[in-house]
Amino acid sequence: MVLFLHSADQKIEAKRLLVEAGLEHKFVGPTLVEVSGEKSVWRPEALARWLSPVGRLEGLQSSTPLIDGRSQCSVTISRPGSPIVVAVGHSPLWIAGPCSIDDSTDLLALSKRIASLGFQVLRGGALKPRTSPHQFQGVGRNGYRSLAEAAHGAGLACVSEAYSEDDVEEAAEYLDLIQVGARNMQNFALLKKLAKVRKPVLLKRAPGATLWEWASAAEYLVHGGNDQVILCERGVRGLEREMRYTLDLVGAVFMQQRFGLPVVVDPSHGTGTKEVMSACTAGALAMGCSGIMLETHPEPVNAQSDGLQALTLDQLASIAQTYIRK
Ligand code: PEP
Ligand code: MN
Repeated sequence: MVLFLHSADQKIEAKRLLVEAGLEHKFVGPTLVEVSGEKSVWRPEALARWLSPVGRLEGLQSSTPLIDGRSQCSVTISRPGSPIVVAVGHSPLWIAGPCSIDDSTDLLALSKRIASLGFQVLRGGALKPRTSPHQFQGVGRNGYRSLAEAAHGAGLACVSEAYSEDDVEEAAEYLDLIQVGARNMQNFALLKKLAKVRKPVLLKRAPGATLWEWASAAEYLVHGGNDQVILCERGVRGLEREMRYTLDLVGAVFMQQRFGLPVVVDPSHGTGTKEVMSACTAGALAMGCSGIMLETHPEPVNAQSDGLQALTLDQLASIAQTYIRK
């Protein structure tokens, strides 16, 4: 893009506005500035408006034309009985379940309990992306089927992570919503494969991803043919070390406003801290986020992964009673 300054005196003010908008730029003449909007989630028209006091912007291009400017994106998740519609401004999507499926948990009983609290989706990892290879790696792809049976038996939909391209076919066969884990947000081969399936995708934000990178990952899915995308904010890596990550509620809201894509907030991974789960839920709902995902386990001390952040069923019930409108 090129910014034609109204006059050469406006160089300093133009620089200030460009820096404030986080735009890479180069002054190439007294009244001419090359501007790169490539790595920005600014709406081109908004950018033109922002810079209008100092000049005229030409050659406006969006780096995410497919997910751009959609005021509303509605995602349908199948469920026994009636499908669930997820969209910005609709009633929130409620997801709960263990971090990982394990052999010792009665999934059907858990699923029934979760359903009775008003949740619509059972979560549970079958394949776990773990930092160390010595940690529990999940029960394997067979877990998709067990999760689906337990969820459907209780009238719920189910969500689990497709960990690699090899998992996509089976994930699409059993799951109602397929999760892309935070560490896989920029696994482009996986995104391209998921773009070809007819199941909605829950796209988690990578802990180090900018909003533009997150939006671009969603653009991959839509570009490949799947516009059924729900985003999931699960915390980013900031300065803070007391919490597991820093939950970026503002980023979540911005993505909803900018792209019309619904964002589900995951305070479990976002904070790793049970004590703040209720407050984060309240905050996310008050800010208009499109759903909440919470980790729970019947016996958190025996959970194979993320036991520290898993809510007991009583703690989950207390949050559900406070915030879920049945
Ligand atoms: C999860 O939801 O189970 C998970 C592994 O989360 P994340 O990819 O956000 O770390
Ligand atoms: Mn987890």
